[in-house]
Amino acid sequence: MRLNRLPTRSNLLSRGINTTDPSCPWCHSTVETGQHILVDCRTSKEVFAHVAAWASDIGFPASPNVIDDFLVHQPHPNRSKAKEVWDSISRALLWSLWCYRNELVFEGKVKTTMELVEVKRTAFMWSKIRSKNLKNVDWDKWMINPML
Ligand SMILES: [Zn+2]
Repeated sequence: MRLNRLPTRSNLLSRGINTTDPSCPWCHSTVETGQHILVDCRTSKEVFAHVAAWASDIGFPASPNVIDDFLVHQPHPNRSKAKEVWDSISRALLWSLWCYRNELVFEGKVKTTMELVEVKRTAFMWSKIRSKNLKNVDWDKWMINPML
């Protein structure tokens, strides 16, 4: 994922595309950047914290400082179940945050905190499809702890 290519409001402005409001659509406290919308915003921090508590067995970070570091940080060896869980969850988390943002910007949908953790379901489905070690993962166990 190339964060500087995300069509955030700050990137649209820098490309000469006028946006009526360049601020973060969730908190309106600062200009919307990839770093802000995916890590620094209060909303993304809530989602990260929730996912980190659920995925604590793989050391998932509750509050990464820099999104680019989070994207390249891979604490688990190749071919391990933990690596596949990490990959699925990190991708599903960032994808979900971007989708939540777009649903608010383009459709006016405001998600509740409970809805924001749909990331677990997305990561589950991606794991079943893409991961060798996770093809037979059980839904009920996954929702409790993705390493069970
Ligand atoms: Zn914000």
